[in-house]
Formats: sequence, C-alpha cells, structure tokens
Amino acid sequence: TVRTRIAPSPTGDPHVGTAYVALFNLCFARQHGGQFILRIEDTDQARSTAESERDILNALRWLGLEWDEGPDVGGPHGPYRQSERSQDYRAYAEQLVEKGHAFYCFRTPEELDRIREERKAAGQNPGIKGDLELPAGEVRARLEASEPHVIRMKVPDEGVCVIDDMLRGKVEIDWGQVDCQILLKSDGMPTYHLANVVDDHLMGITHVLRGEEWINSAPKHKLLYEYFGWDMPVLCHLPLLRNPDKSKLSKRKNPTSINFYERMGFLPEAVINYLGRMGWSMPDGREKFTLQEMIDHFDINRVSLGGPVFDVEKLRWLNGLWLREDLDENAFIERMQSWWFNREALEALVPHIRGRAEVLSDVAPMAAFMFSGMLNLKPEDFAHNKLEEGDVKRVLQFALWRLEAQRHWSKDNIFADVKGLAKAMGLKMGDFMFPIFVAIAGTPNSWSVMDSMALLGPDMTRSRLRHALQ
Ligand code: ATP
Ligand code: GLU
Repeated sequence: TVRTRIAPSPTGDPHVGTAYVALFNLCFARQHGGQFILRIEDTDQARSTAESERDILNALRWLGLEWDEGPDVGGPHGPYRQSERSQDYRAYAEQLVEKGHAFYCFRTPEELDRIREERKAAGQNPGIKGDLELPAGEVRARLEASEPHVIRMKVPDEGVCVIDDMLRGKVEIDWGQVDCQILLKSDGMPTYHLANVVDDHLMGITHVLRGEEWINSAPKHKLLYEYFGWDMPVLCHLPLLRNPDKSKLSKRKNPTSINFYERMGFLPEAVINYLGRMGWSMPDGREKFTLQEMIDHFDINRVSLGGPVFDVEKLRWLNGLWLREDLDENAFIERMQSWWFNREALEALVPHIRGRAEVLSDVAPMAAFMFSGMLNLKPEDFAHNKLEEGDVKRVLQFALWRLEAQRHWSKDNIFADVKGLAKAMGLKMGDFMFPIFVAIAGTPNSWSVMDSMALLGPDMTRSRLRHALQ
C-alpha cells in the first residue's frame, strides 16, 4: 500500500509551505487508498520547541488535513517524534561504519576551515573528502580516549548521481558537489539525512513528496538506501511556492504563517482550495473545489513545475466566493462567532476598555482594530515632534526583529523586549512606543498597546509592523 508522510521540523511558525506539501501527500495517499503519516523531525534540539510542534499540528488540523499515524494519534510505527527515537540512529550509523560506508571523523570545525582555506589558496576544490579519514589504528586510539567525533558517510569523489523524480524524470547531480555528510553529530544526535532515511524506511514510506529545496539532498539519501540495502521510496519534488514577484515565498513579502490566515478570518476550506491550485488544477479547470473533490480527481502528473505564485489578493477573492456561496446567514454568523465575535474574546478585551468608555457606543471604535486586518495608514499618521522619519522606521524595524525572535508570546515578554530596545536606542519609552501604537492600533491614543499586541497574537502583530514599514 501507498504510504506518504509530512515531516515538519518544529522550529518556527506553521508554514503555508508545510500545509501545501502535506495536502499533496494526503491527496496522493487517499487517491491510492493508502495512509498519510505525520512525523516530527526535531533532531535539532536547540531550535525545536514544543510550542512550534503544537502550533503546526493545530494549524494542519484547522485546515482539515488529517493524518492516520502521528505523535498525537499514535500508530504501529511509533514513536513519531525523532527525539524519542534517538537510540536507533546511532546503531544504524555504526552499522554503516562496520560495513565501510561511513567513518569516525575527529576533525574540529577549526581544522576543517583551515584545510578549506589551504585548498582554496592552492586552487583546489575546497570540498573536503580525502582528508577526513584517519588510519584505523589512530581512530581506535582516539575513540578509546573518548575524543569528540562525528560519523560521516562516504561519498564518491566523481561521477554523476542520477535521481528519478516522478515529475522531473531523471535529474543528474555531480558527486563532486556532494559532501561527506555528517550522519551522527558529536552530541550523538542524528542529522536530518540519517534520521529521515532511517525513519522513512522503518515507517514503510513508499512515496516522498516534498519541496524542491530538498532535491540536492537526494543523492545522499539514494546512497544511504544503497548502503543499508533498502528499497528507496519514489521521490517527487514539488515546486516551491513563490511571492508575486516570483522569488521564493518569504515572510518579508507575504505572510507565511498559517496562523496569520486564521487570525485574518480566512476560511480553512478556501485556504486548502487555494493551496490545491498551487501548481495543480482540476481536470475541468474549475477554480473552487473542496478537499474531497481534490482527492477524487487527484493526479500527481497534473502538477506543473512552473513556480506557483501564492498571492494573498487572489486568496482573498477565492475566500470571498466561499463566504458568499457556501455560507448561509446562519453559517456566516457561526463562523464569525467561532472566529472572534465570541464571549471569550470579549472577556479578554473588556478589562482594557471598560474603564475608558463613557457610553457603550464608545466600545466599537475603541475595539475596531482588534477585529481588523491590515490598517489603512498614511505617512502623516507617524508624524511626531521628537522622532524623525528615520527614527520611526528604526523603531518599527527593531521592534519587528525583536518580536520575530520572541517564541513565548505574552504581555510580560513583549514588554521586556520593547523596554530593552527603547533603552538600547536611548529613547524615552513614550516616544519609542508612539510608532508602535500607530502601527498596531492606528492611533497613538489607544488603550495599552502591550495588551493589544498580546491579544492580537504574534502573527497579526508582526504583520502590522511589517505593513507599517512598507
Ligand atoms: P522563510 O524564508 O520565510 O523564513 P524558510 O524557508 O526559512 O522560510 P522553513 O522554516 O525553513 O522556512 O520551512 C518550513 C517548512 O516550509 C519546510 O518544510 C519547507 O520545506 C517549507 N517551505 C518553506 N518555504 C517554502 C516554499 N517557498 N514553498 C514550499 N514550501 C516551503
Ligand atoms: N524536516 C524536513 C522539513 O522540515 C523534511 C524534508 C523531507 O520531507 O524530507 O521540511
């Protein structure tokens, strides 16, 4: 049976690219009556967080993508979180050493830099292969002395690796461009390549559909399957999503977090529909379709390789169709309520505005920016008697950078970030906060902007700061 998977690394916000790749894996599996698996690739312990994992799972579920096996639902091939499988990986890496396909390497990063520099100076290829392996006796002695080391795979020096790709046919990559990839790091954790190949094998994955950014890793994976003597899954590299200017989708130009689209009030059905149109189309060309309709008509050969453009304006248009055509008044009201017009949201909001209202009709204007998307700002809104235009830009840019790095979103943490920045920039808190008030609430006279940012959440806050910088 066909088994596909999505294998996100929980190192950031849930990316629309992850949802796009998950959608195609799900459709491919369902079309063949197979299974779709979710595996968490959290071997990078410094960058992985439990919050990110939770957000990714929630976001995929919000979109209606359901997996048959995964860390939350279990399954016969668990655990589905790589950090819980780390014992296995060392044994597999050592198995390759025994077979002569991998070796212990004791070179420090400094030594590697030095060798690279020497080679460059001598006009040689700086990709290091031959100088990494030591004589067997020395390896033994250094292992016995417990010297820090990694395990690297052996890679041919020359020749061409041919990769079969479902969409691209045969892809050729020179072995000269492929390095002796580290498989096991000095802390005993596997790298992506080892863990990914071992787990795809152990989990019985038959087809790997992933973003084209991974195509250069395919030669290493192919070699690992050969070294282990395992069948390799069929590979399919999907075209990457692009900004309207055709560059790779990036948050500077286009919100990339699924949470942003939820917070904006897009319907999950419309987002999935739009992602289904990224490089793919229905046989009859219709623009609006459900996930089930996509599954029913799915054919991977209909994926076109020209970079699909993810355009928020087009998504808005499609979302409008869904709102008008698929929701009657009752359903519309229910969506509004579950989105943001509900008791829970009011309970969070009212403490901040109750003391400022004289009549209840003051409430709507005071709260309007909490229910809005991007604000309609003019340059003169940012005019301030102590801050020049450059200062305003710098405050917004630094605040954005700081808040992009903030992984624990709370009023206290936002306050600490902002206060630290104001101090570092030598600005009074009141002056520093002025552009932020305008960017977030549209006016400097709003209620607490820290509370506003905490309630708006990281995605809407960052998007408004970016919008104000444009
Ligand atoms: P950004 O440049 O916005 O920070 P990124 O490339 O750093 O994005 P990652 O966190 O590396 O994003 O990627 C998260 C997931 O999203 C990965 O699985 C990656 O394959 C996928 N992804 C990232 N960018 C794209 C894209 N343009 N198209 C399709 N998938 C993408
Ligand atoms: N963990 C990788 C990612 O974040 C998985 C890539 C793959 O599908 O092989 O995208």
